[in-house]
Amino acid sequence: SGRLARARAIVKEIEEKCETPIAKLQLVADDMMAEMHAGLADEGGSKLKMLITYVNNLPTGHEKGLFYALDLGGTNFRVIRVQLGGKELGVVKQEAEEVSIPPHLMVGSSHELFDFIATRLAKFIASESEEFKLPEGRQRELGFTFSFPVRQISLASGTLIKWTKGFSIEETVGEDVVAELNKAIERQGLDLHVTALVNDTVGTLAGGRYYDKDVHASVILGTGTNAAYVERADAIPKWHGLLPKSGEMVINMEWGNFVSSHLPLTEYDLSLDAESLNPGEQVFEKLISGMYLGEILRRVLLKLAEEASFFGDIVPPKLSIPFILRTPHMSSMHHDTSSDLRAVASKLKDILEITNTSLKTRKMVVELCDIIIKRGARLSAAGMVGILKKLGRDSGEKQRFVIAVDGGLFEHYTLFRECLEGSLAEILGTEVASSVIITHANDGSGIGAALIAASNSQYS
Ligand code: ADP
Ligand code: MG
Repeated sequence: SGRLARARAIVKEIEEKCETPIAKLQLVADDMMAEMHAGLADEGGSKLKMLITYVNNLPTGHEKGLFYALDLGGTNFRVIRVQLGGKELGVVKQEAEEVSIPPHLMVGSSHELFDFIATRLAKFIASESEEFKLPEGRQRELGFTFSFPVRQISLASGTLIKWTKGFSIEETVGEDVVAELNKAIERQGLDLHVTALVNDTVGTLAGGRYYDKDVHASVILGTGTNAAYVERADAIPKWHGLLPKSGEMVINMEWGNFVSSHLPLTEYDLSLDAESLNPGEQVFEKLISGMYLGEILRRVLLKLAEEASFFGDIVPPKLSIPFILRTPHMSSMHHDTSSDLRAVASKLKDILEITNTSLKTRKMVVELCDIIIKRGARLSAAGMVGILKKLGRDSGEKQRFVIAVDGGLFEHYTLFRECLEGSLAEILGTEVASSVIITHANDGSGIGAALIAASNSQYS
């Protein structure tokens, strides 16, 4: 029918606009490398902030004792404690609790947000069992994973540059987030020392390194996206401090803010960006990460409904609600293997109140999931290749180079992960790809902060 033909034409156009042939991905990787150089050269030299993290001692595996971590980075925050037993025993025991953040606190006041966090932290500490041992006379130490762009002035302090991922509390911007946390900790009457402030990406790098010394980079693919890697301290022109003993410095790239003329942006991406809380920012993140993939799909479906009567004569009202279609919904439609695409039908019905779709329509929905996901996954792979290029590890090396990856998108969206891994091999070629390894650093961001607190303990 005419409707279907019109829909097909729209889908075909999207498919073409989202194409990421290898040659294009190479250009994206080259741009990533160039921006990394520019961001390291001077402050504000690039859209890539290339933040100095003050982490120059990554965990070795020898760390001992009880350490806490607090992971604030998206819709949930977690509190974690870990008992480390040194080289022989490793992680002796680990416990975590996850709490979702009431949406009103994401756009409320600093005071309320940090009080909420400190209250939960206090509860968690109160539940510490005897298997966790804090030596007599010592303060509990905590690594604070705070996954928003922060300009650090030392390992345990840093000012918030901007919120991302749906958080928006104006008064926190420019403030030291450790000081904010400390004030809330004091209001709770807790005796606790914040030893390290890290980004989830840096935490993931540390968590990965604890288990595998060949981990040199990390990538987060969750609500947002970011990457960190180990740089030679003498290859950071904007660093004017003393060179650390290790000769290394972890760099938090803040790659979500990457832009390049080679990114395949569509009208849907442009309108999503324009209507977002942070227009013009986090362009790479808006193509890749879990917060946005479902929303891109919704925008395409809305256009199809409006211009091709894709779901019948009326535009389903729910389809006009921003962010109603989440990436996990998209994932379950995309992974639907039933012959009549039952999961697609049920998601359309449950989330969007769309019923009576034809199999052809449902097939096109799956096709769209595929187009959007492939683009995101392939661009993520190109970003990783950019890091390899920067370090000169994109050719000829036989030594292992391990990238620790964490985040709900990578963890749960199988087709995304498979496409990412396949594309990485495709860009690098089988020879180089055989020594570049992606590992899932499960919960790396949380435990990693505790590990960094341990390797930088005030008592060691
Ligand atoms: P955060 O990034 O907020 O710290 P996570 O790393 O757990 O948290 O990532 C959560 C994100 O992962 C969600 O916003 C969602 O986009 C994505 N996600 C979670 N579950 C799934 C799923 N089943 N399928 C696809 N994506 C998922
Ligand atoms: Mg996280």
